[in-house]
Amino acid sequence: SLATRDIHLAFGHNRVLRGVDLDVGKGKTACVIGPSGSGKSTFLRTINRLIEPDKGDILLDGESVLDRDPDRLRQQVGMVFQQFNLFPHMNVLRNLMLPLRRIRKLSADEAEQAARHHLELVGLADKAGSRPGHLSGGQQQRVAIARALAMRPQVMLFDEATSALDPELVKGVLSLMADLSKQGMTMVVVTHEMGFAREASDTVIFLDQGVAVESGPPEKLFDSPDSPRLRQFLSDVL
Ligand code: ATP
Ligand code: MG
Repeated sequence: SLATRDIHLAFGHNRVLRGVDLDVGKGKTACVIGPSGSGKSTFLRTINRLIEPDKGDILLDGESVLDRDPDRLRQQVGMVFQQFNLFPHMNVLRNLMLPLRRIRKLSADEAEQAARHHLELVGLADKAGSRPGHLSGGQQQRVAIARALAMRPQVMLFDEATSALDPELVKGVLSLMADLSKQGMTMVVVTHEMGFAREASDTVIFLDQGVAVESGPPEKLFDSPDSPRLRQFLSDVL
């Protein structure tokens, strides 16, 4: 399970997170929605310690991660970004093998086996020898997801994983994410895809100006939102 407790973070005078709490049970999926600039990406980044919060705690299976080695933590908490962040000069197989060798310390054979297995899971076994630049955006994102999954994370974080994709490629990536969710991966998903949030999540958190204004089951938030700000947001995006 993953939890955050009273996360605060400021960039100078800009108080971006102002006490964010989150609880994601093991195998559950939480979606974070909210307007641009509300702190969604910053919040995700505090969870795997790409950014240190000023205050608050992050708990993985009940234990604080703030004193853990960041490299080890990033093995336990995988992250997928809007811009896939693949290494452009390496083929797909090497992209997957690199962190397996460096961080999981697998032998070359083990790393290759794990890499090929995860490429198969995302339907891209035949692209092992290709450079990322020769793949579609949707394929690149599935490679990025496979690379994160190959690390055998306990939790996966997704930050607008489909926002950079052409519309016709969005569905393939969302359905891969929905499959992961169904298979019991613990996930936190920042998304503008309200259909995905409604169908695939157990909990939705509406973040506005660094505050989790409302959170709960998707039916509750989407069908009978309490706060005027969430109602306004939904009428803007739906
Ligand atoms: P979007 O939906 O557009 O991706 P978001 O909810 O992810 O927005 P964040 O990227 O978390 O928003 O940004 C929240 C606020 O923090 C913004 O005001 C932004 O300008 C500021 N911010 C984000 N990263 C930094 C940084 N590295 N340094 C300074 N300010 C930052
Ligand atoms: Mg963002």
